[in-house]
Amino acid sequence: MDFHLDTLLNLPNVVVDSYSNTLDAVILKLQLINDGINCPNCNEYICKTHQTRPILVRYLSVFGQLVYLKVPRRQFYCPNCQTSPTEPLSWLNKKQRQTNRYQEYIYEKVRELTVKQVSENERMSEDAIQDIFHKVAQSKKKTGGYLND
Ligand SMILES: [Zn+2]
Repeated sequence: MDFHLDTLLNLPNVVVDSYSNTLDAVILKLQLINDGINCPNCNEYICKTHQTRPILVRYLSVFGQLVYLKVPRRQFYCPNCQTSPTEPLSWLNKKQRQTNRYQEYIYEKVRELTVKQVSENERMSEDAIQDIFHKVAQSKKKTGGYLND
């Protein structure tokens, strides 16, 4: 079967490197295929990585299993402005532990159900659900629309 998880996932510059299972979760290890980025400070194209640390972020569940993405967070070095910016990803906001698409999903679910129900369905604490809801609600107020995905 010729089958591409990357296509299903549909995130820019992302391929799925491998996956592993725990009892109730699937972990997809991602690879970013762009060599470099444009420096967020001076816009110079840079491709020298300073360091990479993998983080786990929550994504939409599939087949009744929780999904986590193992994302290589890359920090580049910019010789032009001598900074080490972290790679901006359009689908994952800074310091977040869930992708934008997942946060948007939680927001919509809380509008339909109660925080308690969403917490049980997603196996996530009520506090975390509340946090996500408020964050998305706030950014909608600012932009008047949806988060990037
Ligand atoms: Zn720069």
